[in-house]
Amino acid sequence: MIPIIPKPLDDYCVAHTTRPDPLLDELAAYTRAHCQFPQMLTGPVEGRFLKMLVQVTDARRVLEIGTYTGYSALSMAAGLPADGTIITCDIDPETTRIAQSFWARSPDGGKIELILGPALETIRALPADMQFDFVFLDADKENYVNYYEAVLPRLKPGGLLAADNTLWSGKVLAPKEKSDHAMVAFNTRVTRDPRVEHVLLSVRDGVMLVRKR
Ligand code: SAH
Ligand code: CA
Repeated sequence: MIPIIPKPLDDYCVAHTTRPDPLLDELAAYTRAHCQFPQMLTGPVEGRFLKMLVQVTDARRVLEIGTYTGYSALSMAAGLPADGTIITCDIDPETTRIAQSFWARSPDGGKIELILGPALETIRALPADMQFDFVFLDADKENYVNYYEAVLPRLKPGGLLAADNTLWSGKVLAPKEKSDHAMVAFNTRVTRDPRVEHVLLSVRDGVMLVRKR
């Protein structure tokens, strides 16, 4: 991931954002030392942003698509009330095992339920009447449009969906690879969708914030 803003400014944002809980710092350090693709961690600024979004929307039920080592799930869990819950989906048994070992050490870990398997199948298998206040979309980019269509009917009116990496290191301006085109297709789909209001924020690698009407 190439930062959208220059590194010194990115560092400045980190320095002027509430510090993460030490357990999140430890999780990030562990991920950097032991996992492939540690750049996929949402990190201190976006993690804090997600927690705040959960708080200001008074969300109780959250769906996350793309767990990795659990940084974003644990960040959002901290913003939920005691009876709030997150369902998070991933296909990778190893990174999610790391996620679960860190969640187990947090007072908020009990709010998180992991479902292993292809996320599209997981979403389709959820009880038909299960709805969400907040959705964080952050798995394989080729499926973003599919995830969006699968999840929007389950988002409550006024609910928020945040889709990560929607500036895709700037590659949305000159798409070449499949994932580049997938991100362009997602941003276009949302932009033409009369069911929602949306704002594409240049936070970290781009966050498309979508509010269901
Ligand atoms: N939200 C995480 C980062 C997610 S990275 C954080 O902030 O730390 C993207 C994740 O999507 C990876 O862990 C990958 O295993 C997962 N993924 C890829 N394809 C998937 C699929 N078809 N279904 C579910 N998860 C998938
Ligand atoms: Ca991401």
